[in-house]
Formats: sequence, C-alpha cells, structure tokens
Amino acid sequence: MSARKKKAKPKAKPKAKPKAKPKAKPKASRPAPRATAVSREPKPVIPVPDDLAPLGAHVSTAGGVALAPARGDDIGATALQVFTKTPNQWKEREIEAEEATAYRAALAASGARFVNAHDSYLINLASPDDALRARSRASFEAELRRCRALGLDALVSHPGNFIDDRASGIARNADAIIEALEAVPGPTRLLMELTAGQGTVIGSTFEEMAALLARLPVALQERVGVCLDTAHTCGAGYDLARDYDGVWARFADTIGYARLGELHLNDSAAPLGSRKDRHALIGEGHVGDAAFRRIMTDPRLRSIPKVIETPKGEDMVTNDRRMLRKLRAFARG
Ligand SMILES: [Zn+2]
Ligand SMILES: [Zn+2]
Repeated sequence: MSARKKKAKPKAKPKAKPKAKPKAKPKASRPAPRATAVSREPKPVIPVPDDLAPLGAHVSTAGGVALAPARGDDIGATALQVFTKTPNQWKEREIEAEEATAYRAALAASGARFVNAHDSYLINLASPDDALRARSRASFEAELRRCRALGLDALVSHPGNFIDDRASGIARNADAIIEALEAVPGPTRLLMELTAGQGTVIGSTFEEMAALLARLPVALQERVGVCLDTAHTCGAGYDLARDYDGVWARFADTIGYARLGELHLNDSAAPLGSRKDRHALIGEGHVGDAAFRRIMTDPRLRSIPKVIETPKGEDMVTNDRRMLRKLRAFARG
C-alpha cells in the first residue's frame, strides 16, 4: 500500500470556453445545456448512489488524509479504509485541526459514506513483554485519537500475538483494549479483525474472538465489534466456498451478526487452512467468485460496510475499479 500516483491531471482542452466555470460538483447541477459538459474531464467511475451498504477499498493517504476521499471517488468507492500514519513505523502523529477540517470538507464532497482506519502492523497488545505492550498501547491510543479527530466510523485492529501462553495473551490483549478505550472515549467503533492464524496470533477462530470480546466490560461492548476478512478466514480454515451456510451459522452462534461491523472482501492466494494471509483478486483465489456472489446477495450482510484490500497493480486504480464493479454486479444478481 505504498505506491502512490496522483490522479492524472487531464490537460485543459484548448477549446474550453472562458465561461463561468461550474465550480459546483456535477451532482448538484440541474440538467445543463450540452455545451457546459464539454470541458469536464471524463470521470472514470462515479460512486453509484445505490441502496447497497458502503462498498469500497483501502485507499492511499499519500500527501495527506484529505486526499483519500477523492481517491475513493476515482475508483467508485462509497466506503474507504485508510492508514492515518505510516503503518510499519512506530512514529506517531496527531491530527491538526487544519488537517481535520480539510479532510471533513473533502469527505463531504465525496461519495464516501463510511470510513475506517486500519491500525499499525507493529502494535501487539497481547505481548508478554511489558515494554512492547506499553509501547503498543500508546500507539493504539494514538490511533484512536486520530480516528476521533477525523470523525472516522471505525478503527480496524488486529489482535496481538500471545508469544508465551494463549490464555494469558488473550487476557493481556483484552486489558489493553479496555485501558485504551477508557483513555480515549469517542464515537469511533473498534472492530477487531479475525486473523488467518499465523504464528501465535490471537483471533483466528470465531470462538477465540468471542472469548476476547467477552472479557470487555458491558459498558464498552457496544463500542467494539469485529471485522471479518474473507482471505483471513480462508487461511484460518473457514470454507466459504464449499460450506457458506455452515461458516455463517458458526459465526452467528459464536460472535453474532450484531457484532459484525465490517467485511474485508479479499480472495485468498493461500489455501484453506494454510494459516497464511495472502490477498488475491476477487475470483482468483481459494475463496472464489461463488462465495463473493453469496456475500453480496446475503440479506444478513446487506447493511455491513465492505472494503477490498486486493492487489492494486501498477496504476493503483484499474484493479480496484474492476473489483468494485464486479462486486456491484454480483449484488445485482
Ligand atoms: Zn487487517
Ligand atoms: Zn483485512
């Protein structure tokens, strides 16, 4: 998620007339005389105002988080996921008022209706190492503060690695979550992401995720839910391709739909049960088109925001546009 490419600025056409420039967004315009449309750049994709839940992608914040909403529009996204800092570095930052204002204005002018941040990969709230856990908690709290400053809907966070003992790790992870949420109150929901189960990571089974959430006090429960990533669940051994109903029945019995706050729609380059996290384009992995078709037409998942984290390719937009078009087509049946 690092390559960056600015939107290609189309050259102004020489014949553009020196007329009053239509500054307002096209959506607000009434049926315009044909001539005014000439100078408008052909927008590759316009977010489709549909009755689907927000559907989108992880988008780059290179150059500032305020640039993310336009990048979402460019691929036809109505949901966005962003990093609010460089995710593989410990260096923290706070959101300045100016940045928040610019971001909120850009969001309001965009088609995005749901935005979540994804937290840093370095955070390990389950670590038995006191220094690393303290550092992780400080970093996690900074993530929450940035979400609050930007008014984001959710923060998606991976459970940590227990390293020594699983039960102790779950307890440490839950305690750190509780402390952080209490230290940074606010409306942003915390969504714990189900993992593929690599190494000693917590939260690759529905039961274990439910056990982690059960440790949170009732007062915090409604602020916390889960994010289900279809590539991770494939790695963890949940067979959405051949046992779609069975997987969701198990989800309903353990975690429950009320706690499902977001779906990450990724195919999996790693096989079922491999405990590996390798994302692939929709339909080009071990989850397969049929399962995504089911997801996009499943009434139980209809209202859940959906975000892709599939390989972007060279130009950062073509694949995402194609994936979102494909998922929308699935939703239409
Ligand atoms: Zn993730
Ligand atoms: Zn994910």
